[in-house]
Parts: sequence; C-alpha cells; structure tokens
Amino acid sequence: MVSNKTEIMKRAVFPGSFDPITIGHEDIINRALPLFDEIIIAVGYNSTKSGMFSIEERMQHIRDVFAGEEKIKVDKYQNLTIDYCHTKEANYLLRGLRTAADFEFERGIGQVNRMMAKDIETVFMLTAPEFTPISSSIVRDVIRHKGNLKGLVPNSIIDKISR
Ligand code: ADP
Repeated sequence: MVSNKTEIMKRAVFPGSFDPITIGHEDIINRALPLFDEIIIAVGYNSTKSGMFSIEERMQHIRDVFAGEEKIKVDKYQNLTIDYCHTKEANYLLRGLRTAADFEFERGIGQVNRMMAKDIETVFMLTAPEFTPISSSIVRDVIRHKGNLKGLVPNSIIDKISR
C-alpha cells in the first residue's frame, strides 16, 4: 500500500562523557545502528569540569572508531540534552543500562526529560554481559597506571589513548 505519510528521519542522540569511549559504548552504538537512520554521538561537557581527555580528543577517538560509518555523526554540546536534541531534530535519546544503579539514575533523568519534552523518547539498551563491568572511569584508572587496555577500549584507539 502506498502511504502519503512523509518519511521522518529516525535520528537518535547518544549523549555521554565518553572520557574515553569504551567497548561498552561501541557495542551499544553498533547494536543501535540498525534501529536508526542516524546516530549523533554527542559529547556533553561542562566548562567547569575537565576530564582526562579534552573534548576534541574524545570526539577524535569516536571518529576513529566509527570511521567510514555514514550513519554516525560526532558532535559536542553544553546545554540541556533535550534542548540539544531539538536543535538536531532528533526524537530519540539512546542510553545504555549496565546495572540496577544505572537504571535508577537513568529512570530519573528519563522521566524528567519526558516531562519536559514529550516528543523525545528515551531508548535503553541492555549492555552485553561481558561489557557490564566496563566504565570510562575504570579505563582512566588503567591508563593512569599504564595497564593493558585490550578488551576495554576499541582496538583502533588503544595506541592513541595510552599515555
Ligand atoms: P555519562 O557521563 O552520561 O554517564 P558515559 O560516557 O559514562 O556518560 O556513558 C554514556 C552512556 O553509555 C550511558 O548511557 C551509559 O550507561 C552507557 N554506558 C557506559 N558504559 C557502558 C557499558 N560498558 N555498556 C553499556 N553501556 C554503557
């Protein structure tokens, strides 16, 4: 049947600190790719909080991991996440869930975002079991102590982020 409905691009924003991107993030993004026409990986930042990597470095790591993937865009933002989604005409917010603690944290944010912006749906993806313990903060500790990053961050950026 022919539909008269204009096709709306399914665009998702995957917001986070990505300091640095881990294989847990990479897995969520790869699994979400078939669900959306475009995913904007957006590095959220706060001018008063500096991380291990600069915002530009974090964005470059993400670009390196997804080089050649046309559905992925990389950006940064500083305002409210839902306001950023509106400026990008993105109707979906993507988040990963590892643990019950993640759930409780995300529930509050997701419900308040929904109160403020009914046009934006938060989509949660469960982490694969093998990636549950991986977080950017653990990766930063491994980097500080010059540990082996294999299996923690995507192979394509291991050399770039080892300090
Ligand atoms: P934030 O500072 O917003 O928590 P993060 O960079 O730590 O940013 O995480 C961004 C998103 O990725 C969050 O939804 C988080 O739950 C998810 N995430 C982080 N690590 C993993 C992982 N190992 N597996 C699945 N999702 C993850």
